[in-house]
Amino acid sequence: MNLARQIEQYLPRQLLELVKDISGQAVKRGQRVYLVGGVVRDLLLGYPNFDLDLVVEGDAVKLAQQVAETSQAKLLAHHRFGTAKLRYENFTLDLATARKETYARPGALPAVTPGTLKDDLVRRDFSINAMAISLGANDYGELVDPYHGKSDLGHHLIRILHPGSFSDDATRILRGVRYEQRLGFEFEAQTARLLKRNIPMLDTISSDRIRHELELIFKEKQPELAIKRLGELGVLPRISPFLKGDGWLAEKFDKARHLKKPTQLPSLYFCLLVYSFSEKDIEQFLAHLNIPAKLSRAMRDTLRLKTRLPLLDKSSLKPSEIYYLLREYEPVAIQANAIASESSTIHRYLQLFLTKLRYVRTALDGEELKRLGISAGPEMGQVLQVLHKAKLDGEVSTRADEKKLALSLSPKL
Ligand code: ATP
Ligand code: MG
Repeated sequence: MNLARQIEQYLPRQLLELVKDISGQAVKRGQRVYLVGGVVRDLLLGYPNFDLDLVVEGDAVKLAQQVAETSQAKLLAHHRFGTAKLRYENFTLDLATARKETYARPGALPAVTPGTLKDDLVRRDFSINAMAISLGANDYGELVDPYHGKSDLGHHLIRILHPGSFSDDATRILRGVRYEQRLGFEFEAQTARLLKRNIPMLDTISSDRIRHELELIFKEKQPELAIKRLGELGVLPRISPFLKGDGWLAEKFDKARHLKKPTQLPSLYFCLLVYSFSEKDIEQFLAHLNIPAKLSRAMRDTLRLKTRLPLLDKSSLKPSEIYYLLREYEPVAIQANAIASESSTIHRYLQLFLTKLRYVRTALDGEELKRLGISAGPEMGQVLQVLHKAKLDGEVSTRADEKKLALSLSPKL
């Protein structure tokens, strides 16, 4: 099957020019270049994906160096892995030397040696990700599909390439579920059986790799689908005995995504994921997944704030009271609680803090207070705090108001 026409239609003009330039230079060097992996899958499905991965038979780094010398591209080379990134103004292209992998033991990182395209495809996770398109001069656009990925795409199936796949690398369990749910596919019968049988092999995977797969799930459009499915398959308890992929989570994830400005969405999902945990559970979870410090703080804050929410369930709190209750928590933890809480009062207060109160600043600063005759030190600290509180509560609004208030306080101090 030849996809030359589809490539021309699918890739943006500029990207197509870059790809052609690279393949032209490769041909002159006697190297073969292929588009591989996700882009081939998505091209056949008609989904946009301009993260291009190229596999080169022969040295990819040398080819990339040559391309960089004759173009505007910035080169990032990893000689040890035989990979290179070419960064252009609007695109980046990943080039990798075709490689052969062998696994010394389950879950270990594989030993790598140079290989052919076929070697490079056989090491891949699923048939739909194990296709390539040639960019050679004589066979430009030819689909290379040794594992019948195109047929599996047509039948909406996720299929591993060999029975040892999940035990070689159990992260494929998480990857498979992610693709299954993203694409609305199903596991092929034997793949499904082997997946279930190999769930315990997740124990052979490092914390960092498991966490990375969760991060990838949280970058999906609807991560709750994968989380729910992982729950049904019995994968979640293998990651942590406290994890649940229930309807509550799905509803809250959806809410998170529909926020006006969903910043830090993956972190927010992490905070919601642990919302039902006890403070002891969470410590175990953070350590087990080696969660980085900042995100750990946000996740701990989420639970600490949750226990204090009843303090906010009153209809007549002053803005400054809300501010002092909330200022010590990470914003994403506050957002998680706003989404999780069933009380509209609490929700309103948390949103008020996030959108307004946390940005309130006094008009006067220390320098100006000095000019008013207030000395630096504890006295000034107190004045600034009173000003800030008055500003939060709307008791002062202009600079002049603040001056007046500051001067009225000063003699008392
Ligand atoms: P996505 O759309 O999620 O980025 P992708 O197919 O581009 O999908 P990547 O994670 O970018 O996925 O990986 C690129 C390719 O590398 C995959 O298509 C797959 O062929 C291969 N791959 C990635 N991770 C694994 C793995 N753990 N085992 C085997 N092959 C893998
Ligand atoms: Mg990709």
